[in-house]
Amino acid sequence: MELINRKEVPAELTWDLSLIFPDENAMWKALEETKAETGKFVGKFAGKLNTAENIVRCLSEMEPIRVSMERIWNYAGLAMEADYTDNSLREREAKVSDELTRLISEMTFVDSEILAAPDEELKAAVGLAQGCRVYLQDLIAKKPHMLSQETEKVLAALSMSLDVPYTVYNTVKLADMSFDPFTAGGKEYELGYSLFEDDYELEADTAVRRAAFRAFYDTLRKYRNTTAAAYNACVTKEKTMSGLRGFDSVFDSLLFEQKVTREMYDRQIDVITERLAPHMRRYARLLGKKNGLDRMTFADLKIALDPEYDPKVTIEESHGYIRKALAILGDDYVEMVDRAYRERWIDFAKNIGKSTGGFCADVYRKNSFILLNWNDRMSDVFTVAHELGHAGQSMYSDAAQSYYDNEPSIYLVEAPSTMNELLLAQYLLSTSEDKRFRRWVLSSLISNTYYHNFVTHLREAWYQREVYRIVDGGGSVDADVLSGLFRKNLELFWGGDVEIPEGAELTWMRQPHYYMGLYPYTYSAGLTVATQAMLRIGKEGQSAVDDWKAFLAAGGTEDPAGMARIAGFDITTDQPLRATIDYIGSVIDEICRLTEEIDGITV
Ligand SMILES: [Zn+2]
Repeated sequence: MELINRKEVPAELTWDLSLIFPDENAMWKALEETKAETGKFVGKFAGKLNTAENIVRCLSEMEPIRVSMERIWNYAGLAMEADYTDNSLREREAKVSDELTRLISEMTFVDSEILAAPDEELKAAVGLAQGCRVYLQDLIAKKPHMLSQETEKVLAALSMSLDVPYTVYNTVKLADMSFDPFTAGGKEYELGYSLFEDDYELEADTAVRRAAFRAFYDTLRKYRNTTAAAYNACVTKEKTMSGLRGFDSVFDSLLFEQKVTREMYDRQIDVITERLAPHMRRYARLLGKKNGLDRMTFADLKIALDPEYDPKVTIEESHGYIRKALAILGDDYVEMVDRAYRERWIDFAKNIGKSTGGFCADVYRKNSFILLNWNDRMSDVFTVAHELGHAGQSMYSDAAQSYYDNEPSIYLVEAPSTMNELLLAQYLLSTSEDKRFRRWVLSSLISNTYYHNFVTHLREAWYQREVYRIVDGGGSVDADVLSGLFRKNLELFWGGDVEIPEGAELTWMRQPHYYMGLYPYTYSAGLTVATQAMLRIGKEGQSAVDDWKAFLAAGGTEDPAGMARIAGFDITTDQPLRATIDYIGSVIDEICRLTEEIDGITV
């Protein structure tokens, strides 16, 4: 399908950024006002943050400035995300970013002065603080890991150079890497990075899919040494920084911000690797048999169980499905869903220059904006429900918490979003007894929701832990080491049920997450809490819903274990995780049963 220019997209398919500012002039005016306010703020507080009263007053007067900066940032940034080909939008964003970065650097005295304040004043400030208690506590916890002011200044000045590994990774991937066309069955096909990940990996034609796989990895292989060197630089830098800041290990340093114990982190990787593998291997065998494959390989794992069955949906119908599916969360939640459609929070359009993938950006105490590329597929409805989960969390936590304390630890970020995917699946199952439809819903849960969070990202997490173990022991990694680890990783999980063809070991080259610390494992952590909450709502009804909404509203005011407790679970034990894996197993059993009834196929 030919993509159209942004200007030709009907307005009803786009998001309405005038919800932030009525027009561009209003944004520039807000920027001028924010600059003036920042100047006044610096004059008032710089050099004076040595008493509890001043610290608390300073943070509360900084809050509206930060909120206004975030609005300006989103207004300029989101417009650009929808059309990178529009130079005027890119220039505007760059100008706004420049100005805001300068304002932020004028305000850095706040954190450094607070950290330099006497301990008893800090303690008193936490007692006085209303909207910034957690923010202050986090700063205080950081204090033992801060270096001298001079050193911190040097590190801040070098921050761009310290981020070069990620820049190199992206430059290799997005600028240097070029893919030649490949042939399958005598026909030539174009190949590209996102073409492979969005289309060929899911392609139902086995010859085309496997040829694309070979060609894709043949190209990746040419760049393996540069990519490995960039990655090695990234992880050794993290190891060095963890030592400088006085952490015992690079793991402690990376988990510190997440407020997660090493035990919670290790458990996620070990329990899933051991206990989920048998279920997923069964699902892989079923995929192969149902699709009539000669053998099941790593190149075949993303195909649909029932490729001809692909329900089509309109945007209007998606609204109906989602509002009914999420009705269980209450009238206020449904009202948010209705507003999202009515007020155009969602950018459904597909146009040239638009960002791929999907995201949800919250504008504090206004509303959220959701970007996606709508394809009329039922799977798009799951994407909308997912992103509205982030919007729902923001709605409750923005209302209840300050700008400082409204965001949960990264450990739980994907809980509200995946929860909505699960609720949508439950609702869809309740609407029809048709076996093929039910199997489609259940296999979507496995092949999208759980595969993504419990398999793809968890295999990344396993591999990443091995890399950090090497680095923590003073070693370094190169392309051969990384490929060896990744092959071992895949073989460990898939056993003899899925062949790991040549090239698959280079999968470590595909993921930008590795430059973001211990991030991959958190996907399964969020979905564990979501699964347990969904099951609990099914059993207990309203009281479980109330707890879930309290969990959403708590924002970042507790650490992950405390947050999960609000939702009704103890994630300091392995019970929620084991119960979640059992649930995944039961869904796969049901898919197998339906397939036996529909097609007479057993595994
Ligand atoms: Zn998400």
